[in-house]
Amino acid sequence: MLSLKYKLMLSKVITEDLIRKTTDALEKAERIAIVVHVAPDGDAMGSALGLWHYCMTLQKEPVVIVPTAFPDFFAWMPGASQVVVHEYDEEKAGQLLQEAELIFALDFNVPKRLAGLADAVLQAPAKKILIDHHLHPGDFAQVVISYPEISSTSELIFRLICRMGDFEKINLAAAECIYTGMMTDTGGFTFNSNKQEIYTIISELIKIGVDKDEIYRRVFNTYSEHRIRLMGYCLYKKMKVYPEYKAALITLTLDELNEFNYKIGDTEGFVNIPLSIAGIDFTVFMREDVDKIKISLRSQGTFPANKFASDVFGGGGHLNASGGESYTSLDEAVTRFEESLPLFKDFLELED
Ligand code: 5GP
Ligand code: MN
Repeated sequence: MLSLKYKLMLSKVITEDLIRKTTDALEKAERIAIVVHVAPDGDAMGSALGLWHYCMTLQKEPVVIVPTAFPDFFAWMPGASQVVVHEYDEEKAGQLLQEAELIFALDFNVPKRLAGLADAVLQAPAKKILIDHHLHPGDFAQVVISYPEISSTSELIFRLICRMGDFEKINLAAAECIYTGMMTDTGGFTFNSNKQEIYTIISELIKIGVDKDEIYRRVFNTYSEHRIRLMGYCLYKKMKVYPEYKAALITLTLDELNEFNYKIGDTEGFVNIPLSIAGIDFTVFMREDVDKIKISLRSQGTFPANKFASDVFGGGGHLNASGGESYTSLDEAVTRFEESLPLFKDFLELED
């Protein structure tokens, strides 16, 4: 009865043809691998584990494989302890991919986003289904479920399962994972979150038993003391503001990260903070890594963070949230950023 209700309440975003192809592929496959992008975020983990729990209810043998480790604040997610991390266990990940009959690629558009896992996925004989919400999906999968207007891949997973007629198979574990992805990719429903149907879905997830307040606390309020001190240091000492470009930049060197005992995930969200300054619409965060500079870009309004990411740092992403990498020194990356700001002046929204 509920699934019938869904058909009435949610618009049919995913086409009938794609639903049919996915149902078909799922029926035929026993061994299913689910892969997500490097440095998995809440939506990567949420969509993958949401789909994993669903596949378990179908009595399949699903496995989630991530290229690199995920932050501790996702370790509570049901199923997280069974995720295979490629960088820690290359042999196992490679073998699982070779043996898979079906591979779901979630929350990324092109194989490059799989980093060290890309070759193993591309070479695997399995049928591949891409489910994603980034622009410009690659052509490495036989079935491409790509809807950039949807704010999270986790939401797409919910919609997909419902459209396959299996709403009742979304158990509490799956619902918690899906909610986590929807929450994190919208910054706790503070951006990309004006679509009414998001809240129709949330309402259903809460009915299933999701404690949204508890999930918020587990993801956003369980950081280490080191992270909070590092955040304070960044804002006090390392944030540069460019009022004429409505922009701000935060940088951190490897030495600084080590000084604050940096762990994966500790700088998550730092890039967003300067957006809370009046008049700032574009912020960039650069973190020095052993072999590269990792760059995160955020904007609000119409300023194209993704164009800046692709033009200046060979990256990409969404209009308001994107990323890239630089293989230069940190100082050179900063110079490149500062030299590029004037080129994007026309994209700034003028005051009324
Ligand atoms: P984050 O700043 O959280 O690492 O990434 C934000 C978004 O930017 C991601 O969801 C993804 O769409 C995109 N992104 C991050 N890093 C890269 C990158 O190196 N290349 C591309 N093409 N996109 C990226
Ligand atoms: Mn996402």
